[in-house]
Amino acid sequence: MSKTIAVLPGDGIGPEIITEAVKLLEVLKQSHGLDIQLEKGLIGGAAIDATGKPLPDETLELVKKSDAVLLGAVGGAKWEPLPIAIRPEKGLLGLRAELGLFANLRPAILFPELADASTLKPAVVAGLDILIIRELTGGIYFGKPRGVRNLDNGEQQGFNTLVYDTHEIERIAKVGFESAMKRQKKLCSIDKANVLEATELWREIITKIGKNDYPEVDLTHMYVDNAAMQLVRYPKQFDVMVTNNMFGDILSDLASQLTGSIGMLPSASLDANGKGMYEPIHGSAPDIAGQNKANPLATILSVAMLLRYSLQQAELANKVENAVSKVLQNGLRTVDILQAGKTVVNTEEMGDAIIAALD
Ligand code: NAD
Repeated sequence: MSKTIAVLPGDGIGPEIITEAVKLLEVLKQSHGLDIQLEKGLIGGAAIDATGKPLPDETLELVKKSDAVLLGAVGGAKWEPLPIAIRPEKGLLGLRAELGLFANLRPAILFPELADASTLKPAVVAGLDILIIRELTGGIYFGKPRGVRNLDNGEQQGFNTLVYDTHEIERIAKVGFESAMKRQKKLCSIDKANVLEATELWREIITKIGKNDYPEVDLTHMYVDNAAMQLVRYPKQFDVMVTNNMFGDILSDLASQLTGSIGMLPSASLDANGKGMYEPIHGSAPDIAGQNKANPLATILSVAMLLRYSLQQAELANKVENAVSKVLQNGLRTVDILQAGKTVVNTEEMGDAIIAALD
């Protein structure tokens, strides 16, 4: 049955990088048997300009009936003076909440050809391929009670609550184990179980699920402070990491910077049924928007994730990732990842090169 993909270009470089991703999807449809329909929608600043809202009702309807969402990026100086409630970023948060996207998958991949882009020594990071899974809709960012209150002694007190219910831990654990099964079968769960009861429960539940349902997966546990250190010391020891909302927020940014190339990193946010939103981790890059300079590879690698996680097309996902690898081996680079002796290409030429490199 044909699958529907909602395509939301957004703002800044969003439309340029999405154009390349759409070109690739059309080729996969026409010559690789991929049965899809693409439907475009408005999000972010572009939606505000057209409808007054960052997430218009028509876009919400579209994403709800779709099997997956492919998003460019949102935001820009033009919309910054607007009240927070109707800024472009609200469109993104609204999408995550409306679709129940509780699992955020952020691979940190460093193609060997780009090892020099990292601030760490090439030997430490060349060929890095880890996947960080962050719980996205629970934990301390949403827990209640929260706020700032006045105390009897005249001071103020700020407070937040770290809460996780069994079902929230179980469903993110399952995403962690399933992802590990598709990779090297190694899962490291990150917590602070020596100090925080909520993460003690996290550890208990994940251990039980591992023992009962995923005996093949090599499950380990690590405290978050150690995990931060290990990510910088010897990141290649990790395959898949799973953690709560706040720890994941911090660790996934740390891991992405190990690679040093923001224009290369994709992400996925999934619901309980495999529906997902796929987007590059970078923003709308207003400084280079409209110049045909942006690196489209993070978006193209997001397409690979979409194929793998929402359309169950692992073989096509591999083809896309291999094409990226091949193009880098052939020495083509957008300006953000340019190295001496390599050939500089623009956004469009990079998109064409990926299509030409498909098996
Ligand atoms: P940014 O990621 O847009 O840009 C940071 C730097 O990286 C810029 O110099 C930019 O030119 C460069 N860059 C980013 N993506 C690139 C690519 N594909 N190719 C080449 N260079 C690239 O972050 P920012 O400047 O902090 O934010 C700009 C706007 O994007 C803001 O409005 C912000 O709110 C928004 N934003 C949106 C998202 C999202 O849509 N998910 C995420 C982060 C920031």
